[in-house]
Amino acid sequence: MTNLSGKRALVTGSTSGIGKGVAAELAKAGCSIMLNGFGEAEEIAAQIGELSELHGVTVCHHGADMARPAEIETCITETVEAFGGIDILINNAGVQVVSPLEDFPPEEWDRVIAINLSHAFHTTRLALPHMRKSGWGRIVNMSSAHGLVGNLHRAAYISAKHGLMGLTKVTALETAIENITCNAICPGMVKTPMVDRLVENYGSEHGLEYDRAAQAIMAVKQPSLSLVMPEDVGVLAVFLCSDAAAQITGAALPIDGGWTVQ
Ligand code: NAD
Repeated sequence: MTNLSGKRALVTGSTSGIGKGVAAELAKAGCSIMLNGFGEAEEIAAQIGELSELHGVTVCHHGADMARPAEIETCITETVEAFGGIDILINNAGVQVVSPLEDFPPEEWDRVIAINLSHAFHTTRLALPHMRKSGWGRIVNMSSAHGLVGNLHRAAYISAKHGLMGLTKVTALETAIENITCNAICPGMVKTPMVDRLVENYGSEHGLEYDRAAQAIMAVKQPSLSLVMPEDVGVLAVFLCSDAAAQITGAALPIDGGWTVQ
């Protein structure tokens, strides 16, 4: 098992879904974790209690809105104050808006780009000096199969996820000789509340229950016909943070049941 004890990780959008799965796997590997994201205070307290008790690591939460650069700056500052540095940055916070291009609300375009793309620029530029100071760093950007291929009615999301691939490459090149890597994970359909909402909407449009609606979507997009689980993405993120992955940088790693090879 990968040992990351002593490493200090910030996982944006980690109160739910994939980010929660990644935070759990990093904690299992021994990292101190700064959670981030929205949610009920009791649920976040329970998540902190569970991770710290199970794995004996320090776990905190910062409620910064990743659409707001000033709050992102505070989050980085307070993470460094809490842990003494940042070694691992997982840029995971994201939202999805589905609408045909012509009807796509411009304010929703701005919000999706801010949360799914610009937040990673801000966290990265602010965390890099701390990684350079300690001489080690790992950055993982949560892109998507939608960072590699297009789809209907997701102009902002797909533009942001493709943009994240560009940011990943530039970050990798600018840190290539510094023991810092930056990679993108590109999940297909993962069993999370975000996908539950999409499946439920599809199901109600087509009169299908959850399982049949999920199968109908996957029949078109995900050849394995199985949902990816958040912990699978977490294990991949931990591998990218390991010493074995030191020479993997600037890469896009699909975990998509074959979606993007079609
Ligand atoms: P989710 O809705 O279950 O969780 C999203 C997390 O982001 C939550 O913790 C939420 O509180 C947080 N968040 C949302 N807006 C935020 C903001 N403004 N500031 C701070 N935190 C915010 O979603 P998920 O399915 O787990 O998706 C996580 C990431 O994975 C996203 O970037 C998404 O685009 C990407 N992704 C998901 C799938 C999938 O199938 N679920 C596939 C590919 C990529």
